[in-house]
Amino acid sequence: MESGIKHEDIVEATISAIKKAETELPDDVVACLEKAEQIESSEIARSHLQAILENIGIARRHSVPICQDTGIIILFVEIGRKLPPLPDLENALAEGVRKATVEVPLRPNVVHPLTRENSGDNTGKGLPDIKYSFNESEELRITAVPKGAGSENMSILKMLNPTEGDSIDRLVLETIRDAGGKPCPPVILGIGVGGSFDKAALLAKSALLEQVNDMDEKEHALLEKVNSLGVGPMGTGGDTTALAVHIMTAHCHTASLPVAINIQCWANRHATAVIGGEGKWNII
Ligand code: SF4
Repeated sequence: MESGIKHEDIVEATISAIKKAETELPDDVVACLEKAEQIESSEIARSHLQAILENIGIARRHSVPICQDTGIIILFVEIGRKLPPLPDLENALAEGVRKATVEVPLRPNVVHPLTRENSGDNTGKGLPDIKYSFNESEELRITAVPKGAGSENMSILKMLNPTEGDSIDRLVLETIRDAGGKPCPPVILGIGVGGSFDKAALLAKSALLEQVNDMDEKEHALLEKVNSLGVGPMGTGGDTTALAVHIMTAHCHTASLPVAINIQCWANRHATAVIGGEGKWNII
């Protein structure tokens, strides 16, 4: 049976997911920032949070990017096993990014890593960064995650000594203290623990997609420790260094403890296009 999902459906859905992600911050992130602004005790920190909230409102009302750094485009693509065969996904997704660069518009951020030559359209070898997974549905889900450089550059990956019990918390606190205002706090921390060198990084990035307030006891406890550092919004002090901590784990080698900390600034942008088997799609 021929698929009802056409190349154009994937291109258009990708453009729409990128546009929504770039211009409208998810409600759970906005609610978390609003709550932080209400309880923040530092006046300077409160004024930063108010400016951030005003900026988010302007972007939403005028459909313009939330930040000048529109990031590189990371796409989490979930493929339903019950879908008929699909068109060439890689081609369609890259075309969506190229067109979104013109239509949103996006800053052309993608360069060759050595020559630093800009591709001009936010695509290149290995970009967009597409992370495929499969499920049992009849849908194709494309989640667009624009990732700015300020917070990504402060992220780290370490192979820790597995015998040091409290080394993970210590690494997180050192990383956030050393980063200071550079990742545009308040931040959201995606922490990947276990797996292998590269698996830990994927876990950390995936953890950034969780609902900000959906934290377990351990994540809450670590969030409190991070906030007690006093880095504060934009690094000028205060109670709100981070909005959330999310930890994802995978089993690992008995002699290893890979830990990745992916730092995300307050502009925790992501939006998902859901495409049904007949080619109709909507954005959530
Ligand atoms: S870290 Fe985030 S808020 Fe700061 S410039 Fe980059 S994308 Fe914008």
